[in-house]
Amino acid sequence: MRCNFCERRCAIAPGGTGFCRMYTWSGEAVVERFPHRWSSCGTSCLESMPFYHAFPDSRCLVIGTAGCNFRCRYCSNAYVAKADPLLQQDRMVHLPPRDLVARAKKLRCRAIVFNVNEPTVSLPSLLEVGAEARAAAIPMGCLTNGYATEEAIELLATVFSFFNISLKGLSPAFGRACLGIESVAPVLRNIRRLAKACHVEVTTPIVPGANDGDIEAMADFLAGVDPEIPWHVLRLLPEDEMQDAENPSIGAIDSALQSARKKLPFLYFHNFVGSDWVDTRCPACKAAVIERISLGCGGDRLKTMRCQDGRCPECGYRIRIFNG
Ligand code: SF4
Repeated sequence: MRCNFCERRCAIAPGGTGFCRMYTWSGEAVVERFPHRWSSCGTSCLESMPFYHAFPDSRCLVIGTAGCNFRCRYCSNAYVAKADPLLQQDRMVHLPPRDLVARAKKLRCRAIVFNVNEPTVSLPSLLEVGAEARAAAIPMGCLTNGYATEEAIELLATVFSFFNISLKGLSPAFGRACLGIESVAPVLRNIRRLAKACHVEVTTPIVPGANDGDIEAMADFLAGVDPEIPWHVLRLLPEDEMQDAENPSIGAIDSALQSARKKLPFLYFHNFVGSDWVDTRCPACKAAVIERISLGCGGDRLKTMRCQDGRCPECGYRIRIFNG
């Protein structure tokens, strides 16, 4: 039987598993192997996910499961995304959706964010969490590689109202060599689809020599979708199968972003300590309307919020901020 949750569309034999090892065929349906099991269930802030234009300075409950439908050579979460989920199940916490949402309330979280791995590999559990979160008026967001099928993306859009989609590169050669996929076309399709109805931010980890040549074309694509889409370009320190690769030069990436900055006013460059490119500047008058601190490795924080009622305090330009 075929699994139609992501564009791999794996054929799963009875009792077998697909590429992500998170689903099996029960004889009647494709079902989760480890429902309601979470590899992560702690708090963080939205800026650290990163979300820069959603719920500024808010606490969220960060959840994740195991497994992934990509095989990124540089993966920084390989211990969860690539390791056999069967071997991880005992160290994952079992928490039914209602209890998970109750924990978010108890911890005074403004939102629940699925981070760590890919939500598509745990969709049935997330549909249940989504129903509980909706009833409790807690919005949900996620980080995703955007490789879901069109049917699955509609389901994800019922669970999550804000997304950070990873646009990792454009060329088929990069997709095959570094991500283990044939084409990023489904990712582009899903960015377009979700940007029409949900709050969308995009993240691109730069791997020098592999995807930095795509920066200009990615900027053009995103500007065509929405010129005010927030774009997080990350200085990635490659791990896992690329741990011997050179660390990317901050100056070289900054230079490569010069032209893209003219097309996308909310382009951020971070994931390293002391970045100067984490503030939100008003597209009209260039005033710093939201200032942040980058502590590196996803440790970003809000420093100063100068937006008043979602507007630039200097010229009144509306700054897009998603508050549910
Ligand atoms: S979600 Fe997993 S099992 Fe389903 S198609 Fe994708 S990789 Fe295969």
